[in-house]
This record gives sequence, C-alpha cells and structure tokens, in this order.
Amino acid sequence: MKNSYVSRLAIFCAILIATAMSSGTASAAGEVNLYSERQPFLMAPLLDAFSKETGIKVNMVYIKKGMLERLKAEGMNSPADMVLTADIGNLNNLVTAGLMQPTRSDKLSANIPANLRHPDGLWYGLTTRARIIYAHKDRVKPGEVTRYEDLAAPHMKGRVCTRSGKHVYNVSLLASIIDAKGEAKATEWAKGVKANLARKPQGNDRAQVKAVFQGECDVAIGNTYYMGKMQTNEKKPEQKQWAAAVNLIFPNQSDRGAHVNVSGAAVTKSAKNKDNAIRLVEFLTSDAAQKIYAEGNFEYPVKKGVALHPLVASWGTFKSDKAMLSNVAAQRKLATRIMDRVRFDN
Ligand code: FE
Repeated sequence: MKNSYVSRLAIFCAILIATAMSSGTASAAGEVNLYSERQPFLMAPLLDAFSKETGIKVNMVYIKKGMLERLKAEGMNSPADMVLTADIGNLNNLVTAGLMQPTRSDKLSANIPANLRHPDGLWYGLTTRARIIYAHKDRVKPGEVTRYEDLAAPHMKGRVCTRSGKHVYNVSLLASIIDAKGEAKATEWAKGVKANLARKPQGNDRAQVKAVFQGECDVAIGNTYYMGKMQTNEKKPEQKQWAAAVNLIFPNQSDRGAHVNVSGAAVTKSAKNKDNAIRLVEFLTSDAAQKIYAEGNFEYPVKKGVALHPLVASWGTFKSDKAMLSNVAAQRKLATRIMDRVRFDN
C-alpha cells in the first residue's frame, strides 16, 4: 500500500518536473534533461558553454542524495536523459538497477581511457580522483607508509583514521584490492586496517585529516581533492592548518598504482533526447571542458594532455591503478560483505 502510494507520488513528481523542464522555450536544437549529483556551481559554467556552442538547452536538476530511488520510482516516465554522479559506486548502482542504456561514441572512446569507461558504454568517467594516504609530516617517517598494505601492518597499530568502511569511497577501495589480490587477501587487509584504527570509523574524509592534525592518529585515508578544498578554504580557514600538517602519499607506486575513482555520466534508459545527451557527455570530455571540470573540484581530467590546476599539479605526478573500473565495480557487493564480516565499523 505504502509502496504504491510512494511510487504514484514519484510518478506525479516526475510529470511535474517533466512539465517544468519542457516549459520555457526549447530552442530549435532542442534540449537535454540532466539529473546531477555534481553541484550547480561546478556545472553552471560548463553547461552554459555547451548551450552557447550547440544551441541545446540544458535543464539540470541537482540531486544531492537519492538519485537511484528517484530514477527507480520514475521508471520510463523519468524526464532525465542523463545523469552525472560522483564515484563509480553510484554509477554502478544505476547500471545494475537497469536504469541506464548503452551508447557508442567514437569521440568518447578516443577521449576517455578504456579502463575509465564501461566496455559497453553504460557509463563514462569524466574526472578522476585518487584515494590516497594523508600522513602526518613529523610522526610518519619517510618510507614507513608507501602502500595500502602498510595500513594493515603491525607497525601502524593505533595510528590509522578513516571514515566508515561502508562508505562508497572505502567500498570502492576495498573492491580494487579484491580485484587485484583476491577475496582472501582483501579480507586480511580489511581486518588488519580495522585492528590498526585509532578510533571507530566516523566523520568524513576531511575529519580524518583533522584528527591527524590533532594528534589522534598519524595517517588517514582520503580522496585527493579534499587536499585542495582544505588548502583553499577561506570560509573555514582552520582547514588550511589541517592540510599543512600532512604529506600526501600516493600508494603502491612500485606496483599496481594508486586506486582512482571517477565522477562520471550515463544516459538513462528513458532518455527522450539521447543524441543531445551524448553530445553533452562528449562536450564534457573536450579539452576546454575537461580543464574547467577537473579544476572546479581539484580533480584530474580523464583526457590526456589537459593541464591540471596548479595546486593539484603541486602534489606531484603519480602512477594510477590501471584496473578496469568496471571490474572493480563488480567487486563492490563482495567488498561490502567483507566490511560487514570483519565488523569494520564496530
Ligand atoms: Fe567527496
């Protein structure tokens, strides 16, 4: 009863949004309807540039949380032609729910490395971020931590901080270890890291760096772009101090490389403006767009040869794990089970 009410309500909302989206004057070139987890401040300059170049109007709805539930409820009535998400986990959840459709584009195949897009075109990576180790400048000696595996080693006992093991970022990291080394080794790693935790998993990535700054732990796991966000935070200038207390360690440089994740795009099964959606994704992989897109959040462009934000460049170059991200995504379910099994968050 409740479910059918919820889904009827969702369809009603979808129709309202569809009406809102199609009202206003659509240009001759048409329009494209976008559901975005990426913030309006980041997307606005890109979408404006796209509309200017193509004449295609973009209607964006910012969805902070609950994209999957919303698209599921809307089904084929969804007004969305495409989605933008952060993290492969979110893209993969949409794909496995059967909500996306495969697309082909020579431009996208040329601009995005094969490991950062779905082999059948069910999703495309647009920017990357590495999940790395933030290490206290004095308390962590050079060479003490160089690999993810070190976080599980006995000499790191009581020195590690991280957010929940069930958060999409950590699930993807563990999934990459399953993909590289198998279930048994990955389980051992998760157990080892848990045994080394200075405190119960809590807070977000930046909260872990704060804990390192405050002396609660010596190393933290975090995404690269948070360094930029802390280093430039004028609203909360104390975060500059957190950032100044740590070195960035890009793990596993002597073997498989640092785990990278993507923010990306996918075309919905319900898309009524499929060609325009593909054009927008293509546009987002152009040189000019890649620069703005990656710089906007201190990320890395997927397209080769695009300049980095100077701050991002200052962190140094690194070797990234070249595993097919679609294979990593396929291990996410198992990764979640392992986190439960080792009672990572308890
Ligand atoms: Fe994040």
